[in-house]
Amino acid sequence: MAYQTVSPYTNETIKKYDFSTQDDIERALSQGHTLYKKWRNGPLDKRVATLRTIAKLFREHEDELAKTAVNDMGKLLREAKGEVELCAMIADYFADHGPEMLKPTPLKTIATGDAEIVKHSTGVVFAVEPWNFPYYQIMRVFAPNFIVGNPMVLKGPSNTPGSSDAFGKIVQEAGAPEGSFTNLFLNYDQASALVADPRVQGVALTGSERGGRSIAKAAGENLKKNTMELGGTDAFIVLDDADIDQVADIAWRARLYNAGQVCTSSKRFIVADNLYDEFLTRLKEKFAAVKPGDPMDDSTTLAPMNSKRAKEKLQEQVDQAIKNGATLYYGNEPIYLDGQFFQPTILTDIRKDNPAYSEEMFGPVAQVYKVHSEQEAIDLANDANYGLGGIVFSGDPDRGAKVASQIETGMVFVNNFMSSLPELPFGGVKNSGYGREMSQLGIMAFVNEELIVKADKPDLSNPAGGLIFL
Ligand code: NAP
Repeated sequence: MAYQTVSPYTNETIKKYDFSTQDDIERALSQGHTLYKKWRNGPLDKRVATLRTIAKLFREHEDELAKTAVNDMGKLLREAKGEVELCAMIADYFADHGPEMLKPTPLKTIATGDAEIVKHSTGVVFAVEPWNFPYYQIMRVFAPNFIVGNPMVLKGPSNTPGSSDAFGKIVQEAGAPEGSFTNLFLNYDQASALVADPRVQGVALTGSERGGRSIAKAAGENLKKNTMELGGTDAFIVLDDADIDQVADIAWRARLYNAGQVCTSSKRFIVADNLYDEFLTRLKEKFAAVKPGDPMDDSTTLAPMNSKRAKEKLQEQVDQAIKNGATLYYGNEPIYLDGQFFQPTILTDIRKDNPAYSEEMFGPVAQVYKVHSEQEAIDLANDANYGLGGIVFSGDPDRGAKVASQIETGMVFVNNFMSSLPELPFGGVKNSGYGREMSQLGIMAFVNEELIVKADKPDLSNPAGGLIFL
C-alpha cells in the first residue's frame, strides 16, 4: 500500500511519500548497529538527557504534532493533544526510572562467589506500528529501548506517514545520535526481509492479528525475540450491584473514544439482567448525543473513522451481524457528511453462531449482552479468542477485583475507564498477543539479562555439583 496522508474528514490527499530504497534500509541498519556497539558499554546519562529533551519538544510542538495526527487519521484535535502529552509523559518516565530499572540484580545462590544479573542492550529493534495512536504507539517502544541502548527502526502505518515523519524530526531536533531512530516507508516484503537481518535483535509489532501473524512468522523463522500487541474484544462487565449512573457516564466513552478505534475499547458490554434495560436506554441517549463534524473543531464529539476502507469493513461487519440474527437497537444510519463517519451503533441478541460474536469491530459499534449471574458474565467474557483489557463495574470494588482476576485477559480496570500510563504494563493474552510494553516489564523486552557469577578462585566442594559433575 502507498504511504500517503488522505484526510478522513475532507477525503483530500494531502501528501504522498516514496517507499524507502534498499540504500535507506542499509543505512538505517548500519547506523543503528554502529550506535548499539557504541552504546552497549557506555554511560546512560546522555540518553537520559536527550529523552528529557524529546519530552520537552513533544510538549513545545503539541499543536502542530496534534494537527498532523488529525490530518493523517482524523481523530479529534483534543484527543490528539492528549496523545502528544502522553508521549511526553512516557519519555519523562523512562528518563526518570529507566536507569534504576537497568541496574544489576544481585541473586542469592549456593554457587561459589557473587551472582548477579546485569542488563545489556541487544541490538537494533524493528518496530511495526499502527495508525490509531500514531505517536504513542511509537513512543511505547522507542523510549524504553532508547534508555536500554537499542536503536529503533520503524515501519510505520501507510496511512499516517506524516506522524511517523514528525516523530523522527523531534528525535533529531533533540540531538539524538544518528541511527537512534529511523523511520522507513517499507512494503511488506521489505519488512519481512528486515526482520531476518542479523543486526536486528528484537521485533515489536502492534496491530491486527493478520499483521501480527506475518511478522511473528518472520521473527520465528529467524529466531528473533518478538512482542505482539494485537487486537481485542474487551468485555465491560456490569455486575448487578453497579451504580448505573457511573456506568452510564463511562460506557459510551469507553466505546467512542478515538471513534471506537482503540485496541482496548470496550467492545462487548455484558450487563446483569436487573440493569440491562436501563443500561441500553442510557447508552442510546449518550450515543445519540454525539456531534459529528470537523475533528479540528472543539465542539465536535464524533470523529470520522481513519479511512474509507475501515468504514466499509465495519459496515460489512454490522450488515453481517444483522443478517445473522442480531437486533439493531440503535444507529447504523448514514451520516450525510463527506468524511468517513460511522453513526454510533448498538447491537443486541448476538448469538454464538453470529460472526459478530467473535470478531473485533474496530469502530463505534457496541455489542450488548444480557446475563443472569456473575458466573455467566465471567464465562461470556472468557468465551473469546482475544484477551487484551477489560472493565468491571460493581458497587463493591473488592467484588469487582475478584471478578476481574477471573477474566482471561491482560489488564482490567474496576469502576473506571481504562487508561494507559507509562508505569502500567500494557499487553494481552490469547490472540491479543504476548509480551508487555511500558513499565518495568516493558523495558526488559529486548534486554539481555546476563548472569555473571564472580568467584575469587575455583571451588569444587558444592554438594549439588552442577554441570561439571554430570
Ligand atoms: P495492521 O493492518 O496489522 O497494521 C499495523 C501495522 O502492521 C502497520 O504498520 C501495517 O502496515 C503493518 N502490517 C500489516 N500487515 C503486515 C505484513 N504482512 N507485513 C508487514 N507489516 C504489516 O493493523 P491495523 O488494522 O492498522 O490496526 C488496528 C489493529 O491494531 C486492531 O486490531 C487493534 O486492536 C490493534 N491494536 C492493538 C494494540 C495493542 O497494544 N494491543 C494497540 C493498537 C491497536 P500498513 O499500514 O502498510 O498496512
